Amino acid sequence: MTDSDPAAPLAPSPETLAAQALGWVDAGGAIVAGISPSTTFLRDADGSYATSGRAYSRAENPTYLQVEALLTALEGGRAAMVFASGMAAATAVFLALNPGDHVLVPSVMYWGLRGWLLDFAVRWGLDVEIVPSADLAVLAASVRPGRTRLVWLETPANPLWHVTDIAAAAEIAHAAGARLAVDSTAASPVLTRPLALGADLVMHSATKYLNGHSDVVAGALITADEDAPWQRMAAVRSGGGAVLGPFEAWLLLRGMRTLFPRVRTASANALDVARYFEGYPGVAEVLYPGLDSHPQHAVARRQMVGGFGGMLSIRFDGGRDAAMAVAATTRIFKRATSLGGVESLIEHRASVEGRDSPVPEDLLRLSVGIEAASDLIADLKQAIDR
Ligand code: PLP
Repeated sequence: MTDSDPAAPLAPSPETLAAQALGWVDAGGAIVAGISPSTTFLRDADGSYATSGRAYSRAENPTYLQVEALLTALEGGRAAMVFASGMAAATAVFLALNPGDHVLVPSVMYWGLRGWLLDFAVRWGLDVEIVPSADLAVLAASVRPGRTRLVWLETPANPLWHVTDIAAAAEIAHAAGARLAVDSTAASPVLTRPLALGADLVMHSATKYLNGHSDVVAGALITADEDAPWQRMAAVRSGGGAVLGPFEAWLLLRGMRTLFPRVRTASANALDVARYFEGYPGVAEVLYPGLDSHPQHAVARRQMVGGFGGMLSIRFDGGRDAAMAVAATTRIFKRATSLGGVESLIEHRASVEGRDSPVPEDLLRLSVGIEAASDLIADLKQAIDR
Protein backbone atom coordinates (compact mmCIF):
# COMPACT_ATOMS: atom_id res chain seq x y z
CA MET A 1 0.00 0.00 0.00
CA THR A 2 1.30 3.45 -0.87
CA ASP A 3 0.07 7.03 -0.68
CA SER A 4 -1.79 7.80 -3.89
CA ASP A 5 -0.61 11.35 -4.42
CA PRO A 6 2.74 12.66 -3.22
CA ALA A 7 1.49 16.21 -3.86
CA ALA A 8 -1.41 15.79 -1.43
CA PRO A 9 -1.35 18.07 1.60
CA LEU A 10 0.82 16.68 4.38
CA ALA A 11 -2.00 16.86 6.89
CA PRO A 12 -5.31 16.28 5.08
CA SER A 13 -8.38 17.03 7.16
CA PRO A 14 -10.32 14.18 8.79
CA GLU A 15 -13.11 14.57 6.18
CA THR A 16 -10.59 13.88 3.41
CA LEU A 17 -8.98 10.99 5.29
CA ALA A 18 -12.38 9.35 5.76
CA ALA A 19 -13.70 9.95 2.23
CA GLN A 20 -10.55 8.47 0.71
CA ALA A 21 -10.02 5.83 3.42
CA LEU A 22 -6.55 7.40 3.88
CA GLY A 23 -5.97 7.49 0.13
CA TRP A 24 -4.45 4.04 0.06
CA VAL A 25 -3.96 2.46 -3.37
CA ASP A 26 -2.89 -1.16 -3.69
CA ALA A 27 -0.02 -2.50 -5.78
CA GLY A 28 -2.43 -3.14 -8.67
CA GLY A 29 -3.69 0.46 -8.62
CA ALA A 30 -7.04 -0.35 -7.01
CA ILE A 31 -8.37 2.54 -4.94
CA VAL A 32 -10.72 0.17 -3.13
CA ALA A 33 -8.84 -2.51 -1.24
CA GLY A 34 -9.75 -6.15 -1.64
CA ILE A 35 -10.91 -8.56 1.03
CA SER A 36 -8.40 -11.02 2.40
CA PRO A 37 -10.34 -14.15 3.36
CA SER A 38 -7.38 -16.38 4.16
CA THR A 39 -7.35 -17.66 7.71
CA THR A 40 -3.76 -18.87 7.50
CA PHE A 41 -0.46 -17.59 6.11
CA LEU A 42 2.62 -19.21 4.61
CA ARG A 43 5.65 -19.94 6.75
CA ASP A 44 9.11 -19.32 5.34
CA ALA A 45 11.38 -22.33 4.73
CA ASP A 46 13.00 -21.73 8.11
CA GLY A 47 9.59 -22.06 9.76
CA SER A 48 9.29 -18.36 10.56
CA TYR A 49 6.64 -15.89 9.41
CA ALA A 50 9.25 -13.29 8.41
CA THR A 51 7.80 -12.83 4.89
CA SER A 52 4.05 -12.91 5.53
CA GLY A 53 4.30 -11.21 8.94
CA ARG A 54 1.28 -13.10 10.24
CA ALA A 55 0.28 -16.64 11.07
CA TYR A 56 -3.47 -16.98 11.63
CA SER A 57 -6.33 -14.55 11.27
CA ARG A 58 -7.74 -14.96 14.79
CA ALA A 59 -4.83 -12.67 15.78
CA GLU A 60 -5.12 -10.26 12.85
CA ASN A 61 -6.28 -10.09 9.27
CA PRO A 62 -4.85 -7.93 6.45
CA THR A 63 -8.35 -6.55 5.78
CA TYR A 64 -8.15 -4.85 9.21
CA LEU A 65 -5.08 -2.78 8.33
CA GLN A 66 -6.75 0.05 6.46
CA VAL A 67 -9.81 0.36 8.69
CA GLU A 68 -7.67 0.29 11.85
CA ALA A 69 -5.31 2.88 10.38
CA LEU A 70 -8.26 5.11 9.50
CA LEU A 71 -9.74 4.77 13.00
CA THR A 72 -6.33 5.63 14.48
CA ALA A 73 -6.08 8.73 12.28
CA LEU A 74 -9.65 9.94 12.94
CA GLU A 75 -9.33 9.56 16.71
CA GLY A 76 -5.75 10.89 16.82
CA GLY A 77 -4.49 7.74 18.55
CA ARG A 78 -1.48 5.45 18.33
CA ALA A 79 -3.26 2.23 17.34
CA ALA A 80 -6.71 0.73 16.83
CA MET A 81 -8.29 -2.71 16.92
CA VAL A 82 -11.55 -3.83 15.37
CA PHE A 83 -13.65 -6.47 17.11
CA ALA A 84 -16.61 -8.71 16.30
CA SER A 85 -18.98 -6.27 18.04
CA GLY A 86 -19.06 -3.20 20.24
CA MET A 87 -19.61 -5.52 23.22
CA ALA A 88 -16.51 -7.53 22.29
CA ALA A 89 -14.48 -4.30 22.20
CA ALA A 90 -15.89 -2.97 25.49
CA THR A 91 -15.56 -6.25 27.38
CA ALA A 92 -11.93 -6.62 26.19
CA VAL A 93 -11.13 -3.44 28.16
CA PHE A 94 -12.52 -4.92 31.37
CA LEU A 95 -11.14 -8.42 30.76
CA ALA A 96 -7.67 -6.88 30.45
CA LEU A 97 -7.92 -5.83 34.13
CA ASN A 98 -7.21 -8.06 37.12
CA PRO A 99 -9.70 -9.51 39.59
CA GLY A 100 -9.98 -7.08 42.52
CA ASP A 101 -9.39 -3.99 40.42
CA HIS A 102 -11.83 -1.18 41.14
CA VAL A 103 -13.64 0.36 38.15
CA LEU A 104 -16.14 3.21 37.99
CA VAL A 105 -18.91 3.07 35.40
CA PRO A 106 -21.73 5.58 34.85
CA SER A 107 -25.31 5.02 35.99
CA VAL A 108 -26.54 6.04 32.54
CA MET A 109 -24.81 3.84 30.00
CA TYR A 110 -25.48 1.24 27.31
CA TRP A 111 -27.65 -1.24 29.22
CA GLY A 112 -26.06 -4.32 27.63
CA LEU A 113 -22.65 -3.42 29.00
CA ARG A 114 -24.06 -2.58 32.42
CA GLY A 115 -25.74 -5.99 32.43
CA TRP A 116 -22.51 -7.78 31.44
CA LEU A 117 -20.55 -5.95 34.14
CA LEU A 118 -23.04 -6.95 36.82
CA ASP A 119 -23.53 -10.52 35.54
CA PHE A 120 -20.02 -11.50 34.54
CA ALA A 121 -17.35 -8.98 35.51
CA VAL A 122 -18.45 -8.85 39.16
CA ARG A 123 -18.52 -12.65 39.41
CA TRP A 124 -15.07 -12.74 37.86
CA GLY A 125 -13.84 -10.47 40.67
CA LEU A 126 -13.87 -6.94 39.30
CA ASP A 127 -14.97 -4.36 41.86
CA VAL A 128 -17.54 -2.52 39.72
CA GLU A 129 -19.05 0.66 41.15
CA ILE A 130 -21.86 2.46 39.33
CA VAL A 131 -21.92 6.23 39.89
CA PRO A 132 -23.63 9.21 38.23
CA SER A 133 -20.29 10.26 36.80
CA ALA A 134 -21.59 13.07 34.58
CA ASP A 135 -21.57 14.89 37.95
CA LEU A 136 -17.84 15.55 38.33
CA ALA A 137 -18.09 16.14 42.08
CA VAL A 138 -19.51 12.62 42.44
CA LEU A 139 -16.81 11.23 40.17
CA ALA A 140 -14.07 12.98 42.16
CA ALA A 141 -15.49 11.63 45.41
CA SER A 142 -15.77 8.10 44.01
CA VAL A 143 -12.27 7.46 42.65
CA ARG A 144 -10.06 5.58 45.08
CA PRO A 145 -6.47 6.72 44.59
CA GLY A 146 -4.23 3.73 43.94
CA ARG A 147 -7.22 1.34 43.83
CA THR A 148 -9.30 2.57 40.90
CA ARG A 149 -7.76 1.23 37.71
CA LEU A 150 -10.34 2.37 35.17
CA VAL A 151 -12.95 5.08 34.82
CA TRP A 152 -15.42 4.23 32.06
CA LEU A 153 -17.51 7.00 30.54
CA GLU A 154 -20.17 7.12 27.90
CA THR A 155 -20.89 10.52 26.39
CA PRO A 156 -23.49 11.42 25.27
CA ALA A 157 -24.89 8.58 27.38
CA ASN A 158 -27.60 6.32 26.10
CA PRO A 159 -30.57 6.98 26.32
CA LEU A 160 -30.85 10.06 28.57
CA TRP A 161 -27.99 11.74 26.68
CA HIS A 162 -26.09 12.98 29.73
CA VAL A 163 -22.86 14.64 28.63
CA THR A 164 -19.68 14.23 30.68
CA ASP A 165 -16.77 16.66 30.53
CA ILE A 166 -14.05 14.34 29.23
CA ALA A 167 -11.11 16.66 29.98
CA ALA A 168 -12.21 17.15 33.59
CA ALA A 169 -12.92 13.42 34.03
CA ALA A 170 -9.46 12.61 32.64
CA GLU A 171 -7.85 14.87 35.24
CA ILE A 172 -9.80 13.21 38.03
CA ALA A 173 -9.00 9.69 36.78
CA HIS A 174 -5.31 10.38 36.22
CA ALA A 175 -4.85 12.09 39.59
CA ALA A 176 -6.09 8.85 41.17
CA GLY A 177 -3.80 6.70 39.03
CA ALA A 178 -6.67 5.38 36.89
CA ARG A 179 -7.06 5.26 33.13
CA LEU A 180 -10.01 6.86 31.34
CA ALA A 181 -11.93 4.98 28.64
CA VAL A 182 -14.77 6.63 26.71
CA ASP A 183 -17.60 4.93 24.85
CA SER A 184 -17.88 7.55 22.11
CA THR A 185 -20.38 5.63 19.98
CA ALA A 186 -23.03 8.37 19.97
CA ALA A 187 -20.59 11.20 19.24
CA SER A 188 -18.37 9.45 16.67
CA PRO A 189 -14.96 10.95 15.82
CA VAL A 190 -16.78 13.56 13.72
CA LEU A 191 -18.08 15.38 16.81
CA THR A 192 -15.69 14.48 19.66
CA ARG A 193 -12.12 13.22 19.88
CA PRO A 194 -11.74 11.94 23.45
CA LEU A 195 -8.00 11.21 23.20
CA ALA A 196 -7.28 14.88 22.44
CA LEU A 197 -9.22 15.73 25.61
CA GLY A 198 -7.07 13.45 27.76
CA ALA A 199 -8.76 10.04 27.55
CA ASP A 200 -6.53 6.97 27.28
CA LEU A 201 -8.87 4.82 25.27
CA VAL A 202 -11.88 5.26 22.98
CA MET A 203 -14.46 2.57 22.30
CA HIS A 204 -17.07 2.48 19.53
CA SER A 205 -19.89 0.20 18.67
CA ALA A 206 -18.89 0.42 15.00
CA THR A 207 -22.30 -1.13 14.30
CA LYS A 208 -23.65 2.42 14.68
CA TYR A 209 -22.31 5.61 13.06
CA LEU A 210 -18.95 4.28 11.92
CA ASN A 211 -20.55 1.73 9.61
CA GLY A 212 -23.80 3.66 9.40
CA HIS A 213 -25.93 1.34 7.28
CA SER A 214 -27.37 -1.14 9.81
CA ASP A 215 -25.70 -4.05 8.02
CA VAL A 216 -22.58 -4.82 10.09
CA VAL A 217 -22.06 -5.67 13.77
CA ALA A 218 -18.57 -4.50 14.74
CA GLY A 219 -16.61 -2.79 17.49
CA ALA A 220 -13.45 -0.75 17.80
CA LEU A 221 -10.92 0.37 20.38
CA ILE A 222 -8.45 3.20 19.77
CA THR A 223 -5.60 3.83 22.20
CA ALA A 224 -3.42 6.82 23.02
CA ASP A 225 -0.55 4.49 23.87
CA GLU A 226 0.48 0.97 22.89
CA ASP A 227 1.13 0.18 26.55
CA ALA A 228 0.84 -3.04 28.54
CA PRO A 229 -2.97 -2.80 29.01
CA TRP A 230 -3.32 -2.37 25.23
CA GLN A 231 -1.24 -5.50 24.64
CA ARG A 232 -3.54 -7.37 27.03
CA MET A 233 -6.61 -6.18 25.11
CA ALA A 234 -5.00 -7.52 21.92
CA ALA A 235 -4.46 -10.82 23.73
CA VAL A 236 -8.13 -10.81 24.81
CA ARG A 237 -9.16 -10.39 21.18
CA SER A 238 -6.98 -13.12 19.76
CA GLY A 239 -7.30 -15.45 22.76
CA GLY A 240 -11.03 -14.96 23.22
CA GLY A 241 -11.57 -15.01 19.48
CA ALA A 242 -14.02 -12.11 19.17
CA VAL A 243 -12.60 -11.19 15.77
CA LEU A 244 -14.35 -9.34 12.99
CA GLY A 245 -14.83 -11.23 9.74
CA PRO A 246 -12.85 -9.81 6.80
CA PHE A 247 -16.02 -9.11 4.78
CA GLU A 248 -17.46 -7.12 7.71
CA ALA A 249 -14.17 -5.21 8.08
CA TRP A 250 -14.38 -4.30 4.40
CA LEU A 251 -18.01 -3.15 4.72
CA LEU A 252 -17.08 -1.10 7.77
CA LEU A 253 -14.36 0.70 5.83
CA ARG A 254 -16.81 1.38 3.00
CA GLY A 255 -19.31 2.82 5.46
CA MET A 256 -16.67 5.02 7.09
CA ARG A 257 -15.97 6.82 3.82
CA THR A 258 -19.29 8.68 4.24
CA LEU A 259 -19.04 9.11 8.03
CA PHE A 260 -18.74 12.89 8.04
CA PRO A 261 -21.70 13.82 5.80
CA ARG A 262 -23.88 11.18 7.48
CA VAL A 263 -23.14 12.35 11.02
CA ARG A 264 -23.50 16.02 10.12
CA THR A 265 -26.83 15.50 8.36
CA ALA A 266 -28.16 13.34 11.21
CA SER A 267 -27.03 15.99 13.73
CA ALA A 268 -28.72 18.81 11.83
CA ASN A 269 -31.92 16.76 11.51
CA ALA A 270 -31.88 15.84 15.20
CA LEU A 271 -31.50 19.48 16.20
CA ASP A 272 -34.49 20.39 13.99
CA VAL A 273 -36.58 17.60 15.51
CA ALA A 274 -35.53 18.48 19.07
CA ARG A 275 -36.32 22.16 18.62
CA TYR A 276 -39.65 21.47 16.96
CA PHE A 277 -40.95 19.17 19.68
CA GLU A 278 -39.57 20.97 22.76
CA GLY A 279 -42.68 22.46 24.38
CA TYR A 280 -45.02 20.72 21.87
CA PRO A 281 -48.45 19.75 23.29
CA GLY A 282 -48.23 16.33 24.91
CA VAL A 283 -44.42 16.42 25.10
CA ALA A 284 -43.08 16.63 28.65
CA GLU A 285 -39.39 16.93 27.77
CA VAL A 286 -36.94 16.60 24.91
CA LEU A 287 -33.53 15.28 25.94
CA TYR A 288 -30.89 16.46 23.47
CA PRO A 289 -27.42 17.92 24.18
CA GLY A 290 -27.96 20.57 21.50
CA LEU A 291 -30.86 22.24 23.31
CA ASP A 292 -30.18 25.22 25.60
CA SER A 293 -32.34 23.46 28.20
CA HIS A 294 -30.02 20.42 28.37
CA PRO A 295 -28.27 20.40 31.79
CA GLN A 296 -24.82 19.90 30.24
CA HIS A 297 -25.38 22.00 27.13
CA ALA A 298 -22.36 24.19 27.94
CA VAL A 299 -20.09 21.13 28.17
CA ALA A 300 -21.56 19.75 24.94
CA ARG A 301 -20.85 23.05 23.16
CA ARG A 302 -17.22 22.83 24.25
CA GLN A 303 -16.51 19.20 23.51
CA MET A 304 -18.82 18.39 20.58
CA VAL A 305 -17.64 20.13 17.44
CA GLY A 306 -19.96 20.79 14.51
CA GLY A 307 -23.12 19.22 15.96
CA PHE A 308 -24.65 17.35 18.86
CA GLY A 309 -25.32 14.00 17.24
CA GLY A 310 -28.33 12.21 15.85
CA MET A 311 -29.61 10.76 19.12
CA LEU A 312 -32.37 12.24 21.26
CA SER A 313 -35.17 11.10 23.54
CA ILE A 314 -38.67 12.45 24.06
CA ARG A 315 -40.75 12.07 27.24
CA PHE A 316 -44.54 12.27 27.02
CA ASP A 317 -47.11 13.78 29.40
CA GLY A 318 -49.32 10.70 29.09
CA GLY A 319 -46.70 8.29 30.47
CA ARG A 320 -46.00 4.82 29.07
CA ASP A 321 -49.27 4.50 27.15
CA ALA A 322 -48.75 7.79 25.34
CA ALA A 323 -45.17 6.86 24.44
CA MET A 324 -46.21 3.43 23.19
CA ALA A 325 -49.03 4.96 21.14
CA VAL A 326 -46.63 7.33 19.40
CA ALA A 327 -44.18 4.51 18.63
CA ALA A 328 -47.07 2.43 17.30
CA THR A 329 -48.14 5.05 14.79
CA THR A 330 -44.98 6.49 13.25
CA ARG A 331 -44.60 5.58 9.61
CA ILE A 332 -41.22 6.97 8.59
CA PHE A 333 -39.49 6.30 11.92
CA LYS A 334 -39.17 2.49 12.09
CA ARG A 335 -39.81 0.69 15.38
CA ALA A 336 -36.47 -1.02 15.90
CA THR A 337 -33.52 -1.09 18.23
CA SER A 338 -29.99 0.18 17.46
CA LEU A 339 -28.88 3.58 16.23
CA GLY A 340 -26.53 5.44 13.94
CA GLY A 341 -27.87 4.18 10.61
CA VAL A 342 -29.02 6.32 7.71
CA GLU A 343 -32.66 5.45 8.50
CA SER A 344 -34.53 6.87 11.51
CA LEU A 345 -35.52 4.49 14.30
CA ILE A 346 -37.76 4.86 17.34
CA GLU A 347 -37.86 2.71 20.44
CA HIS A 348 -39.50 2.45 23.87
CA ARG A 349 -36.31 1.87 25.85
CA ALA A 350 -37.77 0.95 29.25
CA SER A 351 -39.36 -2.18 27.80
CA VAL A 352 -36.04 -3.16 26.20
CA GLU A 353 -33.87 -2.45 29.22
CA GLY A 354 -36.07 -4.15 31.81
CA ARG A 355 -36.64 -3.62 35.51
CA ASP A 356 -33.20 -2.33 36.58
CA SER A 357 -33.14 0.41 33.98
CA PRO A 358 -32.94 4.08 35.08
CA VAL A 359 -34.99 4.96 31.97
CA PRO A 360 -38.49 6.38 32.55
CA GLU A 361 -41.49 4.55 31.08
CA ASP A 362 -42.69 7.70 29.29
CA LEU A 363 -39.55 7.90 27.11
CA LEU A 364 -39.00 7.09 23.45
CA ARG A 365 -35.46 7.03 22.05
CA LEU A 366 -35.00 8.35 18.53
CA SER A 367 -32.09 7.63 16.25
CA VAL A 368 -32.43 10.36 13.68
CA GLY A 369 -31.20 9.45 10.23
CA ILE A 370 -30.39 11.39 7.10
CA GLU A 371 -33.88 11.62 5.59
CA ALA A 372 -35.54 15.02 4.99
CA ALA A 373 -36.01 16.64 8.41
CA SER A 374 -39.46 17.87 7.29
CA ASP A 375 -40.58 14.25 6.73
CA LEU A 376 -39.33 13.21 10.16
CA ILE A 377 -41.10 16.10 11.86
CA ALA A 378 -44.34 15.50 9.91
CA ASP A 379 -44.25 11.81 10.88
CA LEU A 380 -43.77 12.48 14.60
CA LYS A 381 -46.38 15.25 14.50
CA GLN A 382 -49.07 13.00 13.04
CA ALA A 383 -48.21 10.29 15.61
CA ILE A 384 -48.27 12.71 18.57
CA ASP A 385 -51.36 14.64 17.42
CA ARG A 386 -53.54 11.52 17.31
N1 PLP B 1 -22.17 1.12 23.30
C1 PLP B 1 -23.27 1.77 22.93
C2 PLP B 1 -23.44 3.22 23.28
C3 PLP B 1 -24.28 1.09 22.22
O1 PLP B 1 -25.40 1.75 21.86
C4 PLP B 1 -24.11 -0.29 21.92
C5 PLP B 1 -25.15 -1.05 21.20
O2 PLP B 1 -26.28 -0.63 21.09
C6 PLP B 1 -22.94 -0.93 22.33
C7 PLP B 1 -21.99 -0.18 23.01
C8 PLP B 1 -22.72 -2.37 22.03
O3 PLP B 1 -22.39 -2.50 20.66
P1 PLP B 1 -22.72 -3.79 19.77
O4 PLP B 1 -24.20 -3.91 19.67
O5 PLP B 1 -22.04 -3.47 18.48
O6 PLP B 1 -22.11 -4.96 20.45
